[in-house]
Order: sequence, then C-alpha cells, then structure tokens
Amino acid sequence: MKITSVVNKIQSNIKTCNRTRPLGKDSVCFSKISKFIPIQFEKQNDINSCMDFIAKKLKIPCFLFEEKDLDALNFVSESLVESYNLTKGKIKKPKMIFPDFADIFPSNSSCAVIKTNKIPPFGSGLLSKLKSFVLLKFSNNTLIINTEYFKSINKMIDEFMEISKKEKYLNVLNENLVLGDKFKNNKASSDFIAMLNKYCKDKNSLSIKEKQTIVSNLVEINNLSAMPFSSPYVLTNKILNLQKEKGLITGDEINRVLDNLKDKPRSKQIELCNDIIKKYNYKFELNKQSPYADIFHELGHLEDKVSRAPSVDMFDYDKSKYPLELKKWLEESNIDNQIANSVSAYSGYGPGEFIAEVYKNNLSGIELDDMVLNLYNSIKGPKLPL
Ligand SMILES: [Zn+2]
Repeated sequence: MKITSVVNKIQSNIKTCNRTRPLGKDSVCFSKISKFIPIQFEKQNDINSCMDFIAKKLKIPCFLFEEKDLDALNFVSESLVESYNLTKGKIKKPKMIFPDFADIFPSNSSCAVIKTNKIPPFGSGLLSKLKSFVLLKFSNNTLIINTEYFKSINKMIDEFMEISKKEKYLNVLNENLVLGDKFKNNKASSDFIAMLNKYCKDKNSLSIKEKQTIVSNLVEINNLSAMPFSSPYVLTNKILNLQKEKGLITGDEINRVLDNLKDKPRSKQIELCNDIIKKYNYKFELNKQSPYADIFHELGHLEDKVSRAPSVDMFDYDKSKYPLELKKWLEESNIDNQIANSVSAYSGYGPGEFIAEVYKNNLSGIELDDMVLNLYNSIKGPKLPL
C-alpha cells in the first residue's frame, strides 16, 4: 500500500472518529459500541477481508497488514472479539492497529500499545516516513502487532522450554519435566500437558490460539517457580494463611512470623520462605491461562490510559532513567513490589505493568487475592471488567 493512501485512509478514519467523540489527549476513539450485541468471530481467508471484519464489527481500522500476516491478524481479531464479548463492550478499544513494521518491539513480545504522540527515533523505514504525516499526531492508543512473533512462535516455545528446563522437551509425557514436583496436579496443568504433547507430536497441527495457550502457561509456570525468590514475604503470608484455614496455625502466630520477616533482607526472606514451603509441603497451583493474555494485557494499558506503561525508550529497562514512582517500586524492601511480583514477573517492572497484568488475569477469569486487589485499588487501577 502506498504511503499517501495509508495517510488518506488514516485521516478519513480520524475524521469519522472526531464526529462521534472529540479526540482528547488521552482519549480512545472507539471506547464503546453503544448498544451491546455479541459479535460472532469469523475467521477470514484473506488479509483485506480480515481488516474489513475488524473495521466493520469492532470499529477499529487496521493498516499496512500483508497477506503473510493473515494468521496473526485473524488471531488478533478473535482476541478482540473475545474481549468485547466477555466485557459486554465495556472496554476501551485501540484506536488503530498496525503491524510492527519498524521493528520497535522485542521479538518475544506479540503486541504493544503506543503510549504517547511522540514517536521515538526509528531511523529509516516506513514509520519514519509516515510520522511526519500522521502518526506524530494520532498514534497514541494504537495497537501494534508484532507479526514476526507469530511467525516464529514455534521457535519461541522450543527455546522457552529449553531455557526453563535446560533439557529438550523430547519426552514431555513425563510431565515433571515441565511442571516439576512443586506443582499441584490439577485440571489446568493436565490440560496444558495434553496440549504440549500434541505440540511435540506435530507442531503444525496446532493453531496460533493453541500455541499462545502454551506460551501463556509457560510464562505462568516460570512466574510461579520464581515466586519464592521474587515474593518471599507475600508467598509466606499466603502459605501460612492456607494453614490457618486448616487450623494448623493461629492468626497471632502468623503475625509474629510476618512481623519478624518484614524487615529482613530479601536473601533472608527467601531462606525462610523456602523453609515454610518445605515444612507445609506447599504446591503451586497453575490457573487456566488464556490464549488471549497478551491482548488482555494491552487492553489493561488502554484502560489505564496508557499513562503508566513504559515508553519505548524504557524498553531496555535503564533504571537510572526511571521516574521516582518507578524507582520506589523497584526497591528491594518494597512489599508492594513483592505483591506485584506475585502476580507475574512482568508486574514487578512498574505500576503500569502491574495494572495491565491484574487486568489480564481478571479478563482470563483468574481469581485475584486480597493483597493484590488492595494494591490495585490503592494505586487507582481502572475498574476491573469482570
Ligand atoms: Zn505492558
């Protein structure tokens, strides 16, 4: 598609948008489709039909996708339809959808939202040419899809498993290889193992949706495995309260342990947490993970007006550049940071990521514990949809 026609298309869409809702600094054009009627997802056979489907049904314009992006965009379309139906339309929508043609995002990130109207310096490439026209003015709240991610998703799953297990997954029939004996044997974990076995037998027999389910689960397994190290105080609190429900420990005893633990250095907390895990033979519980997790996360940023998402120049996590709020968040003694880390490793990067991750879990149907909800409310996270 020629740049001029892209620009014209964007401008005409912006005009349409302006007619229905004034475009404020942080506003999202298509925040609600006035009357809720469930949308039936329809997989499309060519890229133009796919972009038309999203534009027509979800009222979100898509630009610059090519035929080779069809599987990825169909999956995004399905994710957005699912989000819309789940929340009965009570969510903010991305203003536009672009592929990541300027290679902004890391290869292991499937999508992202643009935070501000300021376009970072990309060097050469189509986006640089476009920015002087339109993007500079209108790109905030745009969803960027990393189509390369979807093309290399097999490689990612393979690498993930090799990294996390330090062994090839040749025999995942032995589920301990993936989940380890630290995990409870529940429905979510047996479903996950079944899908992983299917993947190992024939990678091509799985849809993107199924592969994304595998990725979501692998991420979560890593999160849970990291908890004794990233959130020792919070995990100890959780384990002890479970024992209280069983009548094995009193509230006073819990308070005594926690008070003692609170001011200890992280290394000491980790040691004590591991003792508690062993003492009570605690097993982690894998929750059912959604294939749409990444899109749910980005919708969380949109709902938070993207204000607390890290900007592109912070993707290298140069902590010296962080504003005070983020620096405080990362302090080792900060219990809020531990609470965030108990949701996911990514939540630990800052309040914006924590909000997006909590939002994602809510949309995925995962129950949130009180500590997490209290923190979410205390930093004024947007109203949770479910
Ligand atoms: Zn994020």
